[in-house]
Amino acid sequence: MDSENKYTLVREIILDWYKENNRDFPWRTTKSLYQILITEILLQKTIALNVSNIYSDFFTKYDSFAKIYNTNTTFLQSDIKVLGLSNKRAKILKDLSKLVVEDYDGEIPQDPETLKKINGIADYVSNAFACFGLNHRTFFYDVNIKRFIQRVFLAQDGKIKSDIISTELAKLLPKIDFKYTYWAILDFGYKICSKNKPKCEFCPISDKCFYFFKIKTVIN
Ligand code: SF4
Repeated sequence: MDSENKYTLVREIILDWYKENNRDFPWRTTKSLYQILITEILLQKTIALNVSNIYSDFFTKYDSFAKIYNTNTTFLQSDIKVLGLSNKRAKILKDLSKLVVEDYDGEIPQDPETLKKINGIADYVSNAFACFGLNHRTFFYDVNIKRFIQRVFLAQDGKIKSDIISTELAKLLPKIDFKYTYWAILDFGYKICSKNKPKCEFCPISDKCFYFFKIKTVIN
């Protein structure tokens, strides 16, 4: 298998797997840029299920940046307390709402560098918003995406430069509909290629995975 073929095959297999095994989160079907951006902030440093549990109530109560802007910070903290880091998260939401309401007339600035002026919004959130909301083919990763890329495509453990992961993502992502590949990686990482005890014996891409070859070699 040449290396270009490997990326295509892995992508096709995990996308097929995703069709049957995807996690049905509401932020994956909304067209609201507001909800997509706010959700990426809520998803930081918490599990997706926690965000899913408050999603409907949160966006019913806070249906616009203006609503967040006009809400007392203490009330906002209380409404997102279950996610953890509620002080920090509420500050990001308030700062972002202030920027959007006061400087952009309620519209989200679409330049990632403008969003990144908000303390707490970094590469992941701005690039995930650009991908999931604006359909831009951006490269970003959290610990789960990094772990998957490293195990499958890089025969290398431990620390790794961010541009190496981005280069691998550029080879793996299709030219269109790339958001499904990100969601497939995230769900595959959650259900199969987990941090502890990955389910290699049930894995549909084990014969293409560097990590699997390595553990097989150690066992044999
Ligand atoms: Fe992850 Fe194991 Fe599958 Fe490799 S073989 S992708 S480590 S679950």
